[in-house]
Amino acid sequence: MLQDNYYQVEDRVKKACLRAGRDRKEVTLIAVSKTKPVSMLEEIYETGERDFGENKAQELKMKYENMAKDIRWHMIGHLQTNKVKYIADKVAMIHSVDSVRLAEVISREAGKHDRVLPVLIEVNVAEEESKFGVRVQDAEALIRQIAELPNIHVNGLMTIAPFVDDPGENRLVFRKLKELSVDIASKNINNVSMIDLSMGMTGDFEVAIEEGATLVRVGTAIFGAREYNI
Ligand SMILES: *Cc1c(COP(=O)(O)O)cnc(C)c1O
Repeated sequence: MLQDNYYQVEDRVKKACLRAGRDRKEVTLIAVSKTKPVSMLEEIYETGERDFGENKAQELKMKYENMAKDIRWHMIGHLQTNKVKYIADKVAMIHSVDSVRLAEVISREAGKHDRVLPVLIEVNVAEEESKFGVRVQDAEALIRQIAELPNIHVNGLMTIAPFVDDPGENRLVFRKLKELSVDIASKNINNVSMIDLSMGMTGDFEVAIEEGATLVRVGTAIFGAREYNI
């Protein structure tokens, strides 16, 4: 059942890539497993999926400890500085960096494990008050500061688009994030590469792929609705 959901999402990812003239390998499907039990993650793992997304440090840590070590864990939620230590040695990437202070702590904790941690800068493209993330016009300055840190590498940008009924309404949000990444890439900032664009969720991942997403974060369409809505 769960695996059928996964294969349906995978099929939609593949078709969106085809429509956009992109290679399927350019897009990583992240199974967003927050709030879901390890048993459900195991079922999805059996399909060959290896990228999982979580939004709470302790939950990620618990699942990391209980699951196979070839999983790439993505921290996609707002991260408090005092929680970084739980995950600095466990995550493949942190998608939600939006302040120098948080970046400093990530760099320090990653350094303790002799790692250079890839991070994405979260951009609040739609300027929703409820959302975390740096504003488009402040992104470059923030990235220049973060780029100075020794144990962090800026790999690209991330955004959470608004909840909308028609996914097409988010096309311009995704396009704007892509434009910002092209703009920042053109500045050739040391220690910054605009390789990744993390955008698109259950409601709009196909549009995001058409607009250049390299990482899509899909929860509900794979695991079903969550008990609480985040
Ligand atoms: C929960 C979450 C997702 C997945 O949302 P769905 O609509 O269930 O696919 C994606 N990104 C972030 C940052 C999330 O917190």
